[in-house]
Amino acid sequence: MGTSHQRTNVAGPSGINLDAIAKLLADLIALPTVNPMGRPYDNAVPVERPIIEYLEQRFARYDVQLERQPCSPIHESLLITVPGKTAGPGTLIEAHVDTVPADDWPERAFQPRREGTKLYGRGACDDKGSLAAIVAALQAILESGAQPQQTIWFLAAGDEEYGQSGIRHFVERHPSRIGRAIFGEPTDCVPVIQHKGTIRWDITVHGRSAHTSQPDLGSNAIVGAARLIDFLLRYQEDLRRRYTGTLVSGPSLTVTMINGGRTRNIVPDECTMAIDFRILPEMDGRQAVNELFAAINSLELPITHSDFQCFAPALNTPPSDLLVQRALDLYRETVGQTIQPAAVPYGSDAGWVPAGVPAIVLGPGNIAQAHAVNEFVDLNQVQQCAAIYQRLLTHDWSS
Ligand SMILES: [Zn+2]
Repeated sequence: MGTSHQRTNVAGPSGINLDAIAKLLADLIALPTVNPMGRPYDNAVPVERPIIEYLEQRFARYDVQLERQPCSPIHESLLITVPGKTAGPGTLIEAHVDTVPADDWPERAFQPRREGTKLYGRGACDDKGSLAAIVAALQAILESGAQPQQTIWFLAAGDEEYGQSGIRHFVERHPSRIGRAIFGEPTDCVPVIQHKGTIRWDITVHGRSAHTSQPDLGSNAIVGAARLIDFLLRYQEDLRRRYTGTLVSGPSLTVTMINGGRTRNIVPDECTMAIDFRILPEMDGRQAVNELFAAINSLELPITHSDFQCFAPALNTPPSDLLVQRALDLYRETVGQTIQPAAVPYGSDAGWVPAGVPAIVLGPGNIAQAHAVNEFVDLNQVQQCAAIYQRLLTHDWSS
């Protein structure tokens, strides 16, 4: 808890109070919304429900539309719409409600703890810091009584950490044109305009069983898998020579899990490996996969590919876009430093916005603290981002 002699209850640049933000964020952390990440889930309500109910209560007194959006059997999002003065493309602002599990941090992960201006807890940085900053910004706008020029869609999204079904559901069914999109994720308040795309699936190498006393009668799937892994490493080097994006590190092909063989005395007839393929913003995912599959075929190994577990596009917004320029100006005015837009290696929901819609990722906290034991966020950054969001959301983009 903050000590009384620290002056932490000062209002931020737009009147958003630090202690109020701390209280809001602590409330959000204390409501666990852990994504099972593909593991069994036996709770009767969707993962995100505790926070969605909390937000519904918080926004009930304002003139906004609240809509729960189920996006998978166990996930849901909440869409809060603030109508603008004018028709035309509105602004999407998103933070995700789900967190990764805290199995490695069983004690106190969901008991928020404040030390000075740091707040600790699962989700403090990823992504409840951004969620709190957006809620504070939106409440400040609604309390001011001034209607924004363009409509605001605030998506408190479900399932970002595993299937991205919240943002995909929203984009597929949303009837209005989205003019621009802001995704709250830990970037130290710096606008991120490029990130990699993520493609994940399994490759199974097939063989033929035989007694290990006469292995030549069989065909060893694990030996085939070893050839394939070696090939993938060389293919990755080739990709890195072909694609040398200036802002993000190179494309990558990582074998993340492997499973093969039945007993110690049978030549293995099957070996399955999980592949994580990260593509650069300038690469087309479908084309990159087709080229890779064709190259693998040249090995003439008996293999099959599973369906894609994940096919998340990259983010590629031009630095000259108005949204990017405005975010840079607001960073300078709020934080007091001049910066350049950034690129990051990790993916986000921002890859899912329709082609041509400018999108940035911008939020409090640092990715180094995300998914980690002792996850924290600096409350000053949450306050700064709330001020930046407030001014982005009330900017007149038609002028
Ligand atoms: Zn996140």
